[in-house]
Amino acid sequence: MTSYDYDLFVIGAGSGGVRAARMSASHGARVAIAEERHFGGTCVNIGCVPKKLMVYASHFGEDFEDAAGYGWTLGKPEFDWKTLIANKDREIARLNGIYEKLLNNAGVEIFESRARLLDEHTIDVGGKRVTAAHILVATGGKPAQADIPGRELTLVSDDVFFLDKQPERILIVGGGYIGVEFAGIFNGLGSKTTLVHRGPAFLRGFDEDLRHFLAREMDKKGVALRFNQTITSVAKGQDGLTVEFSDGRREDFDQVLYAVGRTPNTQGLGLENAGVALDKRGAVQVDEYFRTNVPSVLAIGDVTDRLQLTPVALAEGMAVAQTLFQESPSRVDYADIPTAVFSQPPIATVGLSEGEAREQYGKVDIYRADFKPMRHTLSGNEERALMKLIVERDSERVLGAHMAGMDAAEIIQGVAIAIKAGATKDIFDATIGIHPTTAEEFVTMREKQPDPGVSEAAE
Ligand code: NDP
Repeated sequence: MTSYDYDLFVIGAGSGGVRAARMSASHGARVAIAEERHFGGTCVNIGCVPKKLMVYASHFGEDFEDAAGYGWTLGKPEFDWKTLIANKDREIARLNGIYEKLLNNAGVEIFESRARLLDEHTIDVGGKRVTAAHILVATGGKPAQADIPGRELTLVSDDVFFLDKQPERILIVGGGYIGVEFAGIFNGLGSKTTLVHRGPAFLRGFDEDLRHFLAREMDKKGVALRFNQTITSVAKGQDGLTVEFSDGRREDFDQVLYAVGRTPNTQGLGLENAGVALDKRGAVQVDEYFRTNVPSVLAIGDVTDRLQLTPVALAEGMAVAQTLFQESPSRVDYADIPTAVFSQPPIATVGLSEGEAREQYGKVDIYRADFKPMRHTLSGNEERALMKLIVERDSERVLGAHMAGMDAAEIIQGVAIAIKAGATKDIFDATIGIHPTTAEEFVTMREKQPDPGVSEAAE
C-alpha cells in the first residue's frame, strides 16, 4: 500500500476547509491545511462577520432618532469611521487566533503558505513537497471585477472593509446580497448612497413581493435606487470620480463599489496538473459527495460555485469528513436552506417564493401581512414589515416563509425548522404566538390572499 504524508490535505482555511480539517482529524485522520492569507477565510475576514458588525454600526443613527419618540433626548450623534474600522480589525484578529487555535487543538498541521497541486496526490506547499491520500480544495471565491474603462478606480467588497475614510458619496453597482447590504450600511452611516442595478428589480431569485417591498423601504430611508441601468465608465474628475451611466448621465462620487458576483478561486492551484475538471465559470466540478473527476481530489464551498453561503460550506465540510473517515458516505440536503440579506430592513427567506411555488405546485394559498411594527408606533419611523407564507393548497404544507423587517433573519431561522420538518399550515395555526412580537404573525395569519386575477375579475 502506498503511504502518504497525510490522509487529507486541505487547501484553504475558510469556513469549509477548517470544518473539514477539524472533523477529519477528530475521526483520527492525519490532516494538514494550507492557508496563504487569513484563517477563517472570506466570511470571518472580509465577509459575513465584519459586514454584520458594520450593519450594527450603521443602525445606530436611526436608533438614536427612534429614541426621541420614547422620550430620550440626545446630543447630536457623531460617527467616527476610523474607530469602527479599528475595533472591527481587533475583533477579526481575535477570531483569526481562535480559528488557528481550533486547528492546532484538533492536531491539524498548519502551513501558512500557498499550496499547489503537482499531481493527484502531491502538493507543493511553500516550496515543500508533501503527499496526501486525499486533497480537498476549499479555496473559496473572489469578487468579480468591473470590465469597464476605469475599473482600477473602483472598489470590490474586499477593499471596502479597510477604507481609510468614509466616502461622502458612494455608488454601488450590483443588486445582489453584497450591493444591497452595503447600500444599507453606507446610507445608515450617513454617506449619500446610490445603487445601480441592471435589472428592473434587485435581488433576483427572492420572492417578488419581498424585492419590491425592500426597494420601497430603502427608498424611504434615502438610498437612491436606479434600476434598468449600468455604468459605462469611471474616470478621475475634478470632484472625485466621474461615472458615466448607460443613459448618458454623468455624476461624481467619492467611491464606486462593484458588487456583481463572485468567481471561484481556481487559478494557480495546479488543478490542471492533476487533471481536475472545471466548469465554464472556472468552478471545480463535483458530484454529490464532493468528488471531482479525479478520485483523490475533492472540493467544497464557494470554489464549487453552488450556494455561496458559509453554513452550506460548513455542512459540506462535515459531509466530506464523514464520507472519507467515518465510512459513512454523506451528502448535503440543499432543500429549504434559509438565507438572509442584512439589508435595512433585513430580509430573510426559506423555501419557495410565490412564483416558484405557483410554477411547481399550481394551486397555492398565500398569507400576507404588511404592517407597522409596534416599536415604530412611538418612534415615528416609517419602516414597515412584510411577512408571507406560501402554502400548497392540497396538502396544506407550508412551502415558503418570507419576511422583511427588523430581526427577519432571527425569526426565519426558527420558521425554517418547521418548514424543514414539513409542517402544514394547521401546525402553524396551532402554535401559540409570543405576544407582543412581530414573529407571532407567522402563527396568526388566517386570511388567504385572493387568487391572482380574482379581485380584478370581481371589479
Ligand atoms: P450576487 O450574485 O448575489 O449578485 C450579483 C449582482 O450583480 C446581481 O444583481 C447581478 O444582476 C449583478 N450583475 C452581475 N453581473 C453584472 C454586470 N456585468 N454588470 C452589472 N451587474 C451585474 O453577488 P454578490 O456579489 O452580491 O454576492 C456574492 C454571493 O455571496 C451571493 O450570491 C451570496 O451567495 C454570498 N453572500 C451572502 C450573504 C449573506 O448570506 N447575507 C452576504 C453577502 C454575500 P442579475 O440579477 O441581473 O444577474
